[in-house]
Amino acid sequence: MSSYIKQIQTTLKQAGFYKGEIDGIAGKMTVEAVNQAAQNKLLSPDEVRAVSEQHQSHPQLATPTPDAPTLAGGFVLGDGSLAKLNGVNPNLVKVVKRAIQLSSVDFRVIEGVRTKARQAELVRKGASKTMNSRHLTGHAVDIVPVIDGKVSWDFNHYYPLAKAMAQAATELGVKVRWGGAWTVITSKAGTPQDWVKAYRAGGGRFLDGPHFELPA
Ligand SMILES: [Zn+2]
Repeated sequence: MSSYIKQIQTTLKQAGFYKGEIDGIAGKMTVEAVNQAAQNKLLSPDEVRAVSEQHQSHPQLATPTPDAPTLAGGFVLGDGSLAKLNGVNPNLVKVVKRAIQLSSVDFRVIEGVRTKARQAELVRKGASKTMNSRHLTGHAVDIVPVIDGKVSWDFNHYYPLAKAMAQAATELGVKVRWGGAWTVITSKAGTPQDWVKAYRAGGGRFLDGPHFELPA
């Protein structure tokens, strides 16, 4: 609990952005209110930073990173996700780390570098089509949306992730291909829905929503 956060919540409430209690706890509602207020420049950078830092001290909540200019969905990668990024190409890591700041939906990294044995197992199961997976060389990641605290496999939830990844890749100038439509999404016109439609229209049937890679 912090009186500084209480003060910020009061400002947000008076401006109509915050509907929660003035409890001095920088929870999800407070972060969302900060995001909405950001466009109106209602708060000073110090106030935004204070909410961000307070928010991070509550590990059960999604946490924004302090260097994010706005807090977007207020999400940050958890320790498990960061561990999965070990050994992944730094350019792809940068894109994922930026994407979580831009994403409207929380997500988790479930796979980065993969061993040959695991790849063979996935091919056997039909979960992968190739022994030349970009995961083997650290050029691919699998990310999954987390909705209400649970991983979702509903393909509709992968569109906002693809959007955030495309935005991040474009901003950072990193060429990234999405497995949902097997196309480079960096600086690509249209929406992820359009890309999937085009892939399907071309006869594509292997939609791998979680998969993002640096093309060979
Ligand atoms: Zn993958």
